[in-house]
Formats: sequence, structure tokens, C-alpha cells
Amino acid sequence: MARTNLIGYTAPQLERLMSDLGEQTYRGRQVFKWLYKTRQYDFDLMSDLTKKLREDLSRDYEFTVPTAEKTLVSKDGTRKFLFRLHDGHAIETVLIPGEDNDRRTVCVSSQAGCALGCRFCATGAMGFSRDLTVGEIVGQLLYLRDELGEDAFTNIVFMGMGEPLLNYDNVIRAIGIVSDPAGMSHAAKKVTISTAGIVPAIRKLADDGCKARLAVSLNAATQQKREQIMPVTRKYSLEALTEVLKYYTKTTHWRVTFEYALFKDFNDSMDDVLALTNLVKGIPCKINLLAYNPVDGLKFQRPSDDKVNWFAKQLYPRVPAVTVRKSRGQDIAAACGQLAGENAKPEVNEDV
Ligand code: SF4
Repeated sequence: MARTNLIGYTAPQLERLMSDLGEQTYRGRQVFKWLYKTRQYDFDLMSDLTKKLREDLSRDYEFTVPTAEKTLVSKDGTRKFLFRLHDGHAIETVLIPGEDNDRRTVCVSSQAGCALGCRFCATGAMGFSRDLTVGEIVGQLLYLRDELGEDAFTNIVFMGMGEPLLNYDNVIRAIGIVSDPAGMSHAAKKVTISTAGIVPAIRKLADDGCKARLAVSLNAATQQKREQIMPVTRKYSLEALTEVLKYYTKTTHWRVTFEYALFKDFNDSMDDVLALTNLVKGIPCKINLLAYNPVDGLKFQRPSDDKVNWFAKQLYPRVPAVTVRKSRGQDIAAACGQLAGENAKPEVNEDV
């Protein structure tokens, strides 16, 4: 009989499992620590468990972390990992080093594909396949630590494939494992959930007291313009989005980050500066500007670096905090969904 993979099991689930096995529930937290903190996946080597429990676990359970089928390394140090899921779907994880390597941000996927169909996005063009399980989300991070060590990443952003707030429960459970001191012990405030603007779920995040931070992929500052590139705006209007963000910032006392990708001759004019300034009024926030990474087959273009800097200069100090993010990994198709879209079929491991 196939063994059950425990990856993604939360501490309460492991406690329940121990109880089902006739053990004390505290054993669940011991196993939790071995799996996520120590990353000892061999039950026989979990030295503080009884021999009988180790035998029971080895017989019926396993803890298998996904392995990357393909790894691409960019000239700028950005690494992109392609994981093949058990049912054949491909997902991506991107590790982006900061300029001086003191910050290493990992961009994790929360869904295989995405239903939201943003017009500029390679994942959106693929359509939606399914939600990732808790294990598939956490597995991306465990793999990186197994391969690159405890310091593989300093920040986690749910900005890979998929809309994390449409896979709310699994994303929150994954963050629970990641931030538990007995788990992956990575501070929740260094985890960011990036959403296209799922209004009810943003409210829920605030009400649930989720400690992860929030980013909103905005990209256009008027209803009419945003509808053209992000169809989700038809369901959740910009007005509803700004209202819920006011509620969110008031409830949590954290500011939100607006991600604004600049598309040449679409959202990079003075009118856009003014619309954006007006939109974020009353919302404690910072704005991250990023020149769009073009995707083959999609019509959007990247503005010049001068134009990006001009836009930033017009925006600040009209809004209190503006940063310009560098596009990374352009030579390895690091924008979300580009690699998985290219890899419909399995390939062998390959370091480029
Ligand atoms: Fe989905 Fe994000 Fe791509 Fe939009 S940008 S289609 S929300 S993955």
C-alpha cells in the first residue's frame, strides 16, 4: 500500500495523527519540528520518538519534498525552479537576490495556472488548472532550504503563479507552518501575500489577524484602464478595493504595498501619475514601480529606464513612499508563468 506523504500536515493535524496511532498528542509537535525545522525526513533518525512510533511512521508514512525538474540561473543571480507536480502540472518558484545579497526574496506559487487572466501575464494566458495543496506550497520552500541551506531566502512573497487569496485556506495554513517557531521559523512579517484585489478575502485577512503583509498588484489607477488589463476589476471595482484597503490598514495598522508595473504608453503618463496619487490618498502605503518584463506573444512593451525614473520622480513626494524595483532575471524568462508555459512536457534536470 502506498505510504501517506505528510508534507503540508500542520501541527494540529500531526497531533491528531498521533492520537489515532495511540500516542500522546505532544508527539505530533515533536514530529512537526523534525520535519519542518530540522528537516530530518527519515523517521528512523527522529531520536526522541519511541522505537515503535518510528516503526509505525516508517511503515505507513513518508515525507517527500518535491524536486525541481529544471533550474535556470540568470546572469544577475536570479534562479528559477520548475517543479513538476504528481499530476503533471508545472509550477515555478523564483529566488531573487538583492543587490548586495543581504536580501533574498523567494517568489512562491499558490496555484497551478490562474483564473484571473491578467492580459500582461504568462500564467494568466495559461488558464487555471488547480489550487496547490499546503504541501505543494511549503514544499517549494523546503526544497530551497534543502538545496541552498537555512539562509536560502530572507523574504517570501506569494507572487508566483496564481492568485493566493483564491486559495485562501491552504495559503494561510502554509504560512502557519512557515512562521511557527517549531516549524520553518520564518517571521510572518517577512511573508507578503500579493493579490490582484480579491476584496472579500482582503477583509478576511484583516479579520483573521493574519500577520503576513499585503501587496496589491495594481498596475492601473482608473476603473476603465484597469479593466482593460485586469478583468478581476469588473468583479471587484477599484472603489471597492480602495475601501477594503482602508479597512485593512486601519484594522492591522500596517501599510500596504502597491505593485505598479509600467507598460510603455499605457500607464506611464502624467495623467497616470495623477490618477495613482488620487487613488491611494488615505491609504497608508508604499508604491513599488517596476518596468514590465515583456512576454512573448503578449502586446505590452517595456518603457525605457528614463521613463521609469521620470514616473517615480513625478510620483514622489505626491505619495509618501515610492521605490523602483529592478527587473530581474530577464534572460531566464523570470516573469511569472513564462517557464511553466514553455514546458508543457517533463524534461531532465538542467543547470544553465
Ligand atoms: Fe493571475 Fe497574478 Fe498572472 Fe494576474 S498577474 S493572471 S493574478 S498570476
